[in-house]
Amino acid sequence: MSKAVSKVREARLELYRSKGTIHAKAVAGRFNTARWIMVWLTQIIFYGGCWLRWDTGEGVRQAILFDIVHEKLYLFGLVLWPQDALLLAFMLILAATALFFVTALAGRLFCGFACPQTVYTSIFVWIEARVEGDHLARLKLDRSPMSARKLATKAVKHGIWALVAIWTAITFVGYFTPIRELLPSVAALQTGPWESFWLIFYASFTYVQAGLAREAVCQHMCPYSRFQGVMIDGATASVGYEHRRGEPRGALRHAGSTGDCIDCGICVQVCPTGIDIRDGLQYQCINCGLCVNGCNQVMDKLGAPRGLIRLASENELAGAPKRAGEGKGRRGPGPRVLVYAGLLLLFSVLSVWTLSQRSTLRVNVLRDRGLLSRETAEGRIENDYTLKLINMEEAVRTFRVEVVGLPDLKIEGGSEFTVGPGSIHTVPLVVSSPAEAAPAGARPIEFHTAAVHDAGTASREKSRFILP
Ligand code: SF4
Ligand code: SF4
Repeated sequence: MSKAVSKVREARLELYRSKGTIHAKAVAGRFNTARWIMVWLTQIIFYGGCWLRWDTGEGVRQAILFDIVHEKLYLFGLVLWPQDALLLAFMLILAATALFFVTALAGRLFCGFACPQTVYTSIFVWIEARVEGDHLARLKLDRSPMSARKLATKAVKHGIWALVAIWTAITFVGYFTPIRELLPSVAALQTGPWESFWLIFYASFTYVQAGLAREAVCQHMCPYSRFQGVMIDGATASVGYEHRRGEPRGALRHAGSTGDCIDCGICVQVCPTGIDIRDGLQYQCINCGLCVNGCNQVMDKLGAPRGLIRLASENELAGAPKRAGEGKGRRGPGPRVLVYAGLLLLFSVLSVWTLSQRSTLRVNVLRDRGLLSRETAEGRIENDYTLKLINMEEAVRTFRVEVVGLPDLKIEGGSEFTVGPGSIHTVPLVVSSPAEAAPAGARPIEFHTAAVHDAGTASREKSRFILP
C-alpha cells in the first residue's frame, strides 16, 4: 500500500470517532443545572404541546397542528393558510436571525443547551447511567467480554432507548396527524403509509442519533459547527481557557513555578465531545460549559479563584489579568452582535406588522373571459365573474359584496354569501351597468367585500367591466 493511500485512510478514520464511545464523567454545577432546565423545558413543550386543545367556538381541535393535507397550520387561535406565506417567511427569517444573534453573542449556546441532538443525547446518556452505572462502570462494562450480565444490561438499556425513541416519533407525527387519532391507529397497526414512514424514520433517527452517534453528530455531521466561525468575532463569549493564568500547567502548583492548571484532566473527562478546551477554541466544542463546572470544583479544592475555564470573549481572555475578577472588565458587544440585533429588530417589526395587517378574508375575482358582455332587454350590459371567497376564520361568516366604478353598477341577484368555517366558497356573479354608463371599452371596477359582523374584515379587488 502506498504512503499516500495509507494517509488518506488515516485521515478518513480521523474524520469519524477514533476514541470509541465517550463516557463523560458526570459533573454538577450551574451549567449542568441550566442544561437540565433546558431539557425539561424543551421536552415539556415538545411532548405536551400536541396534547393541548383549543376551543374554536364551533368545536374543539388540537391547539398546535401542521395539517399538511388541508394546507393549514394551527397555532392556538391563529390559523395560517398558504396565503400567509409572507408571514411564515418572516417568522423563519426571524428564527434564523435569532440563532445568528445568539451565536454572535455567546457562541454555540444553542448547541450546548437547546439543540435537539444535545437534549436527546443528555436524556439517552442519563438512561445509560441509570442502567449501567457511572462513567467508570460504563467503561469497564464496554471493555469486559460478553457475558449474560452484560447482554442483559445492554438489552435493558437499548430497550428503554427504543421506547423513548418510539414515543418521540409518535409525538413528532402527532403534530401532523391529530395525536388523539394517531394513537389508536398506532395501537391497531393501521397507520397510513406516510405516517408509518415517518414513525419508523423518526424513531430510528432518534435512536441512532441520540443513542449511538451522540457527539459524532456535532463533530462530523452538523453543518452549523462548520460555519459558526463566520458569525463570531473577538467579542463573542465562548467557553475558553485562560492560558495566561493556567500555563505552564503542572501538578506542582505550590512550587510557584507553574500556572493554576494542575493538569488533572477533569475538564477533559467531563466533556461530552471528549476534547481538551486548553488546546483553544475548537469546532467540536458545543459550549455546554461542563468543563467550567469541572474546573471550578478543582479550583475550589485548591482554594484558587474560579474561572480558569469560563464563558468569556477572546478579547477578554487575551487581556485578562492574572486572576479572574481583577482589573479589566468585559468589552462591549462586537459589530456582528449589533448587526444581528438590528436585523432581529427589523424582522420582529415586520412580522408583527404583517400579522396586524392580516385579514381573515381573502377574495379572488376572475372575469369570465369566455363571454365578453351581453345586452339585456332593459338595455343594460352584463358581464360575468367568478368570485372566490376565502373565510380564514374558524366560524361561519356572511360576506356582503358591492361593486363600484361605473354609474348605477350593480350585482344581479343576491350579494350576500355565507361561507363555512375555514372554507373557500366559489360564486358566479353577474354584474350589470347601463349601456351609456361610459364609452365602449374595458372600464376599471372594484369589488368591495366585507363581513356582515365586522366591517373591518374587508377586501377590495380590482377587475374590468367590458362595455361594447
Ligand atoms: S480541570 Fe482545570 S485544573 Fe484540571 S486540567 Fe482542566 S483546566 Fe487544568
Ligand atoms: S470543551 Fe467544555 S464547553 Fe466545550 S464541549 Fe467540552 S465540556 Fe462542553
